[in-house]
Amino acid sequence: MSERYKKSIANLERSKKTLAGGISSNVRAGDKPFPLFFDRGAGSHLWDVDGNEYIDYVLGRGPLFLGHTNHEVIDATCKQLQRGQIYAAQHELEFELSERVSRMIPCAELVRFGISGSEAVHGALRLARAATGKQTIIKFEGQYHGWLDNILYSLSPDPNKAGDGLHPATLPESPGQFNGADSHVVVLPWNNIEVLEQYLSQHASSIAAIITEPVMCNTAVVPPLSGYLEAMRTLCTAHGIALIFDEVITGFRLSLAGAQGRFNVVPDLTIFGKAIANGMPISCLAGKEKYMGLIAAGKVGHGGTYNSIPPAVAGAIATLDVLERDASAVYKTVEVTGQKLITGIKGLAEKHGMPIVVQGYGAIFYVGFPSARTQPHDRQAIYDYRSSLGMDQNLYTEFVSAMVDRGVRIIPRGNWFLSSTHSDADIRATLDAVDVVFGDLAMKAVSA
Ligand code: PMP
Repeated sequence: MSERYKKSIANLERSKKTLAGGISSNVRAGDKPFPLFFDRGAGSHLWDVDGNEYIDYVLGRGPLFLGHTNHEVIDATCKQLQRGQIYAAQHELEFELSERVSRMIPCAELVRFGISGSEAVHGALRLARAATGKQTIIKFEGQYHGWLDNILYSLSPDPNKAGDGLHPATLPESPGQFNGADSHVVVLPWNNIEVLEQYLSQHASSIAAIITEPVMCNTAVVPPLSGYLEAMRTLCTAHGIALIFDEVITGFRLSLAGAQGRFNVVPDLTIFGKAIANGMPISCLAGKEKYMGLIAAGKVGHGGTYNSIPPAVAGAIATLDVLERDASAVYKTVEVTGQKLITGIKGLAEKHGMPIVVQGYGAIFYVGFPSARTQPHDRQAIYDYRSSLGMDQNLYTEFVSAMVDRGVRIIPRGNWFLSSTHSDADIRATLDAVDVVFGDLAMKAVSA
């Protein structure tokens, strides 16, 4: 291994001396076999500094729905860069983009742009509290809404500390989070409308918002059970609670109208990032006039030096151009490619006698291996955070490392992102690697 990654190893040692941990986001610490250094990307492929080539299913952790260095996005961004990076003022691309987002996204009566998903979430929570005059936010165990203090709870809590799965404790993910913020965050299990109903029947008068990923992408790409999002919508309307869909991953990936368009459930507020600009840094906070109007009127604060920087806005417009072309044919292409991969992986698991869970969509899906102690009914599918704990994370980590060694880059937590640039040849090469690695793992299991 050390020969294959020689330069990356030396780079990591060097960078650790001045860059905290040698990385710029803690999430990258978990990369396998260790945080590698990359040199360039094109389409579905990446090359590391040692010259190793990868088929990339990480795709910047979601943004690159059109693959690396999409030339239309790059050209539009560069063209704008020549005309200035930042004006700290309005520009005409800005309303071109807000008009398009408003046309595409069901709840987007008004729109604001920022840089990261985390800050847009922050804006949505603030708006919900200001509009409802209430304080408490409901979030769901296993979901992620950015790294800021007031919502960084119970993404991957230790079940021994989080207690009863139906009434989980609110657990911070990091030391140093503002002490006391947790008293205004309630964590509930996802995909369980009875628990939500029951909770709201007693506490609705203090709840400002329910924030949810409409598909639980940050744990096992769990689709919503039939009728779940609709029932959540009905409850929020009945109790005067803001419904926030965090579409940082699902937005512009599951459909041009996001998950809210795909499932036909309209939230009050929503957040986009990642795929909206195919890798350019821009996020979007959007929602109904009742909420966003508070920002428009200057009553609720929202700011940021880099908000709506022209090159990122130009990149987003170019991205939407491609996504809209030919009646949004790109979504069908990605779905078909992803389904080929899903079918192939399932088939190979069967061939090698490996128990497996594969779930989600062609554009983003999850792969996990049920551990021997997993209950039979949890071996078929994951439906919430607690059922995700039945997967054998050590075995999956071994799988990921072996795949990276064979030139297929995947995320250790189990998510696979697809792009419009993944070809049939990529799928074949990926499945060839899966075949070898499953074979090795199955053999190891037998001899263990
Ligand atoms: N919400 C969700 C659903 C996310 O997946 C993420 C990031 N993965 C965020 C919010 C935070 O976005 P950012 O990293 O751009 O701050």
